[in-house]
Amino acid sequence: MAKKIFMLGLDGLSPYYLVYVVNKLQLHNIQQIINKSYFRTLLSIPPTTFIGWTSLITGVNPAKHGIWGFTHFYIKSGKINTSIFSSYDVKSPRLFEITAFHGLKSIVVNYPLTYPIEGIYIKNNVIVSDTLASPRIDCFPKKIKKLCSSFIKKINKNITNVLEKTYYLIRLFEYLCNNFDWNLALLVLDVPDKIFHIKPSYLWKLNNNKFNRIMRDIDNLVGHLSQNADITLIVSDHGLAWYKKWVNPLAYLYKAGIIPCNYTISYNILRKIIKIIYGNTFLSNMHLVISYLMQLHSRLHKRSRLRFVSDINYYLLDEVDAENTWIILFRTSHLRDICYNYLSKISRNFHFEVYKLEEIFRGKYYPLFPALFVVPKYEKGIYLSLSYAQLFTEINSYFYKPAGRHHPYGTFLAYGREIEKSLRVDKIVSIYDILPTILALFNLPIPQNINGKIIPLNSNLIKASTSSKADYNIILKIKKLRRKLY
Ligand SMILES: [Zn+2]
Repeated sequence: MAKKIFMLGLDGLSPYYLVYVVNKLQLHNIQQIINKSYFRTLLSIPPTTFIGWTSLITGVNPAKHGIWGFTHFYIKSGKINTSIFSSYDVKSPRLFEITAFHGLKSIVVNYPLTYPIEGIYIKNNVIVSDTLASPRIDCFPKKIKKLCSSFIKKINKNITNVLEKTYYLIRLFEYLCNNFDWNLALLVLDVPDKIFHIKPSYLWKLNNNKFNRIMRDIDNLVGHLSQNADITLIVSDHGLAWYKKWVNPLAYLYKAGIIPCNYTISYNILRKIIKIIYGNTFLSNMHLVISYLMQLHSRLHKRSRLRFVSDINYYLLDEVDAENTWIILFRTSHLRDICYNYLSKISRNFHFEVYKLEEIFRGKYYPLFPALFVVPKYEKGIYLSLSYAQLFTEINSYFYKPAGRHHPYGTFLAYGREIEKSLRVDKIVSIYDILPTILALFNLPIPQNINGKIIPLNSNLIKASTSSKADYNIILKIKKLRRKLY
């Protein structure tokens, strides 16, 4: 009989936060698992949600899977248009597509970029699509919608209320695991990331009963599923951290007269306005509306605060999460090269390093526009602030103000009878390593040309690394065919 692997993905989970919350709330199930686990820091660059989860589930870098953030820039009738990336845009086969191809059964709940379902190779799988950037959830097979209608209604109703939504996602996932056969069960939850951005005190002070209840629910789920599974994995797409120092490469370019800067109302002021009008719960999934309103304001030239937003004649930033994607797109290669030369010169001040995107990521699926990849010196507590430079009174490219953002150090934890205990959070594995590791645990061939390697969870697995490599392009062909049919 094939193995059973349960993987819980917690968005933004740093290894140190996992240990902190487990100790403070006495989450006994996870505590026991940690004590017997293979525990590592998971490196995820750039530390952003869509790129991280896609790299994790495909084992390849963004130039091979095609996801570059939240915002997909494309040209239609000569004009630049944007949309949010969807399941159709993932250009490399995903773990649960590969396992399905080999006849293994999966339950996949809330995995980012599984909306719409038509963009996925779904044979053998039970899938409840993601809720992060989707208007509602989508299911396969369709009978799930009927079977789980009470949960699905609650989730759709609370799609912007992180804690409520998480509560029902856990219930739904448990129901599916109890009622369907599975070899692979994947659940991704938006905590702690979303809570960190909305109410960081819930995380550190643990003074909110609802948040604490969710963490206890997660602990119970892990306790229950780890008894049913041969292997339990806890992973994240990136970590979270507090930074004191901020650097804005665009401010340097502006200062040198290379690019212009738009004047616009600040994001925070806009959030406050939306909060007054719509209340708190509305904010968590409001990226799109906020970015739209900001564009509207920039057109009105509200000079309330100097702020960088995309200037389509010069540069483009991700509309949802510019800070964490570390990518700046330029209208022309010529402009990109000028900016590259200038920033390479001044980056000698050690605040950041700048690369051409193709120097860091090799593959076929680059963004439509030439790009720079800017890596802040996060090890020194410095982070990017592409839009929040305090430029109103003085041109200041580098400033101090403590605030929370993503961090490239996420979590990798594996537990099970055949996993050797090794608690070494000082050691790093790559986000690309998870796909080949899980395939090796299932004894399945590894895709060619992936960026990851098998994590040596036991001595047998090390031997498996020499086993055959497979070409899974057939999955992509079937997906394309399906897309045509719809
Ligand atoms: Zn995330």
